[in-house]
Amino acid sequence: MPDTIRIDAHAISPLHYVGGRRVGSEAAFEVFSPIDMRRLGAMAEAGPAVVAQAVGEAAAAFPAWAALGAEGRLPYLKRFAAEIGARAEALCLAESNDAGVLLSRMRHGIVPRAMLNITWFAEQALTLQDQVIETPQATHHVRHDPAGVCAIITPWNSPLMLTTWKVGPALASGNTVVVKPPEWAPLSCSLLADAAEAAGLPPGVFNVVQGSGAVTGAALVSDARLARISFTGSVATARTIASVAGANLVPVSLELGGKSPFIVLPDADLDAAAATGALMYRNATQVCLAGTRFLVHESVRDAFVERMRGHVEKLRVGDPRDEATEVGPIIHPRQVERIAGYLERARAAGAEVLWGGGRHEFGELYFQPTMFAGVEQHHEIVQEEVFGPVLVLQTFSDDAEAIVLANGVDYGLGGVCYGAEDHARAVAEQVRTGFIWVNAFGIRDLAAPFGGRGKSGVGREGGAWSFDFFCDVKDVVVPK
Ligand code: NAD
Repeated sequence: MPDTIRIDAHAISPLHYVGGRRVGSEAAFEVFSPIDMRRLGAMAEAGPAVVAQAVGEAAAAFPAWAALGAEGRLPYLKRFAAEIGARAEALCLAESNDAGVLLSRMRHGIVPRAMLNITWFAEQALTLQDQVIETPQATHHVRHDPAGVCAIITPWNSPLMLTTWKVGPALASGNTVVVKPPEWAPLSCSLLADAAEAAGLPPGVFNVVQGSGAVTGAALVSDARLARISFTGSVATARTIASVAGANLVPVSLELGGKSPFIVLPDADLDAAAATGALMYRNATQVCLAGTRFLVHESVRDAFVERMRGHVEKLRVGDPRDEATEVGPIIHPRQVERIAGYLERARAAGAEVLWGGGRHEFGELYFQPTMFAGVEQHHEIVQEEVFGPVLVLQTFSDDAEAIVLANGVDYGLGGVCYGAEDHARAVAEQVRTGFIWVNAFGIRDLAAPFGGRGKSGVGREGGAWSFDFFCDVKDVVVPK
């Protein structure tokens, strides 16, 4: 059985959390830190038997949890959020160490948001059953019945945020969950299980099974007792999960990758656009919603490039545990190889390096913030998600061309558009994505829809969209 993992003074269980108890398994996997490739420890890996046990416990806990109603669940979920807050520093260090997420971002952004993900949905659920449609013939009472056991599968780039973003609405609306954290960054979800236990969530309501996608994930998504699968990750995995879920007729929510445009119109505030542009390198661009294709009007191209270069030169690449660091490491040597391949092939295809272009001296898993120009729309560097600090810049001569370029990829997650407000908004409205920011980046609200088109996903999360997914919506019709 693997030993407790220690991150500074914090102890993290390497075991699963099933039916309110820590459960081991024979198999284990190693966890490394992308900061310096040091070994953090071994985690238990759940095979089909442990996964089946977790789904069974979640199914057994479901009727009582659902019967509590939103008001009955509220105090549990408030305590859950408070217990997440009580573990804030451990969660920050866990994710900074195993996923390389910036400690500053964990402390000031992600942990507060994780708590809000739980409390906000718990409070919203209080009004879930209030929807009434009146017609001359009848009153339609729209009910949101919890669906049952939900599988929650998340990627390594922001496990705490993405897991609570799904667990919040799932639990608030009366479901029980089995969480399968990412195998490259499993620690924060283990601490979430501690928080659930300390909050007194009834055994079986919240379960965690650790392990790889191929073993644990595959066993989980093929369990026919599931009522929902909520997945965030890559397109390739989404295809596998969707086909298994299709066979069992289990509804899936898929939040996938992006290749979002960052449009700079000729009437843009170039200083503001350039400052925001440099933010795309945060977390080494391992951020699904980052703008990674810069589309800049030809008349302002040089002025914009010089301004953005000024900001990029000041970016601090380094150890994510240092609060001043802005660009941390790449999660894993496999990703480093992938990114290096993109750099090599872009150069071979004749791309011009505006800045960066290679590894960063800070360490093995670090890249320089890079920008390529001279790329054509069909190049892989324009079409594919790199998930590293490698951006591309293209120019356009009018709005119509900007929109064609923006929409000329299979992804459709987000976007950014800088320009005079009415102009930027008119262009933004023609970009085919799930969301787009006008003269801003990253403004999010839990009530607003989040998700992508095309290869960026199926379905929307956030506010009412999350509840619609995690519930069976029913119309109780009472004639007048
Ligand atoms: P991934 O698809 O490799 O893994 C995601 C999760 O799926 C992991 O927990 C993994 O273990 C699991 N998994 C893998 N194979 C499985 C299988 N056969 N059955 C069940 N589960 C399986 O993705 P990743 O490399 O961890 O994450 C990066 C991707 O996530 C990028 O494409 C990124 O854009 C995307 N992402 C999207 C969003 C969004 O909200 N749209 C947010 C963050 C990341």
